Amino acid sequence: MSLPAKTHCPYCAESATLLFSVSDINQNMSDEIFDYYQCHGCGLIFLDPIPENIHDYYGQAYSAYQTTGDIESNVTDYDLSKLKTVRDNIQGDKLLEIGPGNGTFAYLAKKEGYIVDTIEMDSKCSKFLAETIKVRNSINSSTIVETLKQIEERYDAIVMWHVLEHLESPWSVLSALPDMLAPNGVVIIAVPNPGSFQFKIFKKYWKHVDAPRHTMFLPANLLGQQLVQAGLQKVLVTTTDSVSSEFNSRGWWLHSLNNFFSKNPNRFLVWLLNRSTINFIVYSFVRIIERTDGSGNAYLAIFRKPGSNS
Ligand SMILES: [Zn+2]
Repeated sequence: MSLPAKTHCPYCAESATLLFSVSDINQNMSDEIFDYYQCHGCGLIFLDPIPENIHDYYGQAYSAYQTTGDIESNVTDYDLSKLKTVRDNIQGDKLLEIGPGNGTFAYLAKKEGYIVDTIEMDSKCSKFLAETIKVRNSINSSTIVETLKQIEERYDAIVMWHVLEHLESPWSVLSALPDMLAPNGVVIIAVPNPGSFQFKIFKKYWKHVDAPRHTMFLPANLLGQQLVQAGLQKVLVTTTDSVSSEFNSRGWWLHSLNNFFSKNPNRFLVWLLNRSTINFIVYSFVRIIERTDGSGNAYLAIFRKPGSNS
């Protein structure tokens, strides 16, 4: 069967070519093959077609949806880094989190004294956010733009931690965010970095490809351009902050390596890379590269709405 090697970008309509075809390596929910294209105009990497039943690929075991156990003990250093990022950039106390999953960050933010509203597509998590975490408003919806239009509140911060890459039309959400901000309000967005060193090395075996749940990979300059066009001012775009650095661990490197060798078994290389000393030495070099801004697995973007007097 030959694959269509060309299509058009769903964002800018320029031509796009097939970058790779890949199965659901991370979770093995099916044997289907998913095609990812890269646009020649804007650089967007996108899944085409997006399965109509995309929600079925999240499954019962999807880690971000687990609501069992004590919330306090589910809080990680990653959540604490997110909280610090918000604290360092917010002026005010009203926070909207889009895609909170099981809500460990929302829980922390609420505990810190912020007024937290959430929009989540998973109904079980939405219920958990409303009844157990007790955020102010827990909205269960998968149509973010339509939901935002019905909210009258204006926020001091809107956060999306690794959510944008799951959407079918992230640019519609990005352009709807500025209207939802109070003056001096910020959007804080963390996403996988398609410009990363590991993506260059691993391509379709990169853990962050996560087909078909990750539908869109926005280069940092494209995301920034969209937010500036929507009227926001850049505060920061980086891969070296504490939130992004969580994704540069040896574990993420090993996971991508495992993805590669599960599909390309080479007994000698598998043996070699299973030697922890060799692995450690290799990853030590990778780590040096990943500390260069732009090369890490994920990036953080913070953009601010101008205040009334600026
Ligand atoms: Zn494009």
